[in-house]
Amino acid sequence: TRKRLVMGNWKMHGSLAANAALLEGLVAGATRAGDAQLAVCVPFPYLAQARDALAGTPVSWGAQDVSVHAQGAYTGEVAPAMLADFGCAWTLCGHSERRAMHGESSALVAAKAASALAAGLTPVVCVGETLDDRDAGQVECVIGDQLDPVLALGTQALARMVIAYEPVWAIGTGRTATPEQAQAVHAFIRASLTRSGAGQTRILYGGSVKPANAASLFAQPDIDGALVGGASLVADEFLDIAAAAA
Ligand code: 13P
Repeated sequence: TRKRLVMGNWKMHGSLAANAALLEGLVAGATRAGDAQLAVCVPFPYLAQARDALAGTPVSWGAQDVSVHAQGAYTGEVAPAMLADFGCAWTLCGHSERRAMHGESSALVAAKAASALAAGLTPVVCVGETLDDRDAGQVECVIGDQLDPVLALGTQALARMVIAYEPVWAIGTGRTATPEQAQAVHAFIRASLTRSGAGQTRILYGGSVKPANAASLFAQPDIDGALVGGASLVADEFLDIAAAAA
């Protein structure tokens, strides 16, 4: 059985003071997650703060992006080994905001996942279609294209990563995919993973996950947890979602 994972993506939010209160709240309520895993992906400057605040707690922490390169003249980039050096467990790869605003291709996203794995990090590879893709009936085609270079990394790599399905039209819009819409895409992703020998790889749903809709999403057979944006910035909301996964 796949262990559920509820991961917060803080995006570009926070401050030392606000994070301290949020992290304290998460630690205080972490038992509400039961057997589910809890994690937060924080902006780079706050990795050390997350490490210090979460040491010895059941809440793990990660980054929101990583360089594809191991080292070198890449000003502004952060190498996977640097994240590992901090004790960082996770990194998001290919969040839709990076695909859309920073031109990250699916090939690059897969290469980042491979680099992260090589450094001992667990990549959370994000995929998802736009509303235009959905209206054009292209969901499986688009998700398939995003997944192909990731699947090409092979069974061993796939077994060590997490996939997050985040329909772009549901991110930050308050418009969640229905549990049935989400499950349909999760089942498609599961079938692809299974054909690659990695049917037990966890698949998270992301896109306007809130306490009110979390339980119905987690009730779906192929939804193994959530990648939470806005609601991860409020300890009680994030923990309510975690409790729904317990
Ligand atoms: P929201 O939960 O704010 O819709 O964000 C989802 C997301 O992009 C998480 O990575």
